Amino acid sequence: MVALAPETTLKKTGPLVLVEQKETNAYANALAQFDKAVAHLNLNRGIAESLRYPKRELTVNFPVKMDNGEINVFTGYRVHHSTVRGPTKGGIRYHQDVTLDEVRALAMWMTWKCSLMNLPYGGAKGGVVVNPHSLSLQELEKLTRRYATEISILMNPSGDVPAPDVGTTPQIMAWIMDTYSMHEGFSHPAVVTGKPIEIGGSHGRIEATGHGVMYAVREALRTAGIQPKGATVAVQGFGNVGSVAARAAHDMKCNVIAVTDVTGGIYNANGFDVPALMQHVREAGSVAGFPGCDSITNAEILALKCDVLIPAALENQITSLNADKVQCRILAEGANGPTTPEADDILNDQGVFIIPDILCNAGGVTVSYFEWVQDLQSFFWTDEEIARQLERIMVSAFNAVVGEARKRGIDHRTAAQVLAIDRVAQALMIRGIYP
Ligand code: GLU
Repeated sequence: MVALAPETTLKKTGPLVLVEQKETNAYANALAQFDKAVAHLNLNRGIAESLRYPKRELTVNFPVKMDNGEINVFTGYRVHHSTVRGPTKGGIRYHQDVTLDEVRALAMWMTWKCSLMNLPYGGAKGGVVVNPHSLSLQELEKLTRRYATEISILMNPSGDVPAPDVGTTPQIMAWIMDTYSMHEGFSHPAVVTGKPIEIGGSHGRIEATGHGVMYAVREALRTAGIQPKGATVAVQGFGNVGSVAARAAHDMKCNVIAVTDVTGGIYNANGFDVPALMQHVREAGSVAGFPGCDSITNAEILALKCDVLIPAALENQITSLNADKVQCRILAEGANGPTTPEADDILNDQGVFIIPDILCNAGGVTVSYFEWVQDLQSFFWTDEEIARQLERIMVSAFNAVVGEARKRGIDHRTAAQVLAIDRVAQALMIRGIYP
């Protein structure tokens, strides 16, 4: 039995019991955003109600034999939020703090993200409670193959297609593809996306989320009347999303003045040579120690005066406790759920131009969709084609969100959710309620 923190209350929300830790429960936040958006839509009560809950949830507890011969038991999840618009899509997260409520929230956000981008998918998410950096390569492979086997009752190329998320990599996707294929007796590249190119991965998938973030930032700068050249950019999290976004910002002649990772961060008012910084991270393992910089903490970077702030780490970074200190003009949400609903209200009052997560980081799942289509057709596209199609879809979704916000006089996040939820609700009504 897990002990609950003192401020924790158990809240009944429809059929689900939610462990509510004030403001930082991602699923409670996803529901608050949903309810805010639904208030602008004239939906049938029962239709709206049915979209608040995951369609199905799987918890798996499984043993893994460690290198020292001991057997450790791990817990994992796979949640399908909605199958209304197609197979479920969404990443798998390996992190020591993964909870079921977090996976529920991430699955729900995937439904809205896929709908907003008009991808023919519903939303899902998976997670394993583990610090992947504490495992050897062999242990990581064993854990992955066992978890893949445990969730294979839900996962398949036409039903549920996982992908990388925080703590998982193309190699891990390769093991999942191989495990599933071994059980089936023949190769199924389309069961997972974000794979290495050698086994049916797509050009541009690794960079897709970071590039998508910068397409959205470019459009936001244009809308806000800020020149990209010399615009100051701060990036929280220098992983796959943050580092690629920083590199793309550098290529757009922006001035990347601060970046952080789990070990700390660096600041230079004159901007960094981002390719040199990426080389430093490859050699040193973190941004710390990059020459000619002051150090900056993860909390300080969020309060930095800059044109563009890109939180590209985890949820709940900007809350009611620090939102009033945020000084950026554009907040580009590379991470999922970095801003709580309480913080949203404060930032909107401050006039911050928010590019909401389900739009800003949707480049990843968009190129995942391209990868899946290529795998199903066994016909592969060029890098140029991927970039062109990604840019087209990102720009059109950006314009749709900003247009909807203006039309209704609402904030960008609510506008994005209104568009996304309405599309799913219409599809649900057209399909009809079975039986
Ligand atoms: N994990 C990514 C996300 O949160 C990508 C999901 C996918 O490609 O299916 O959007």
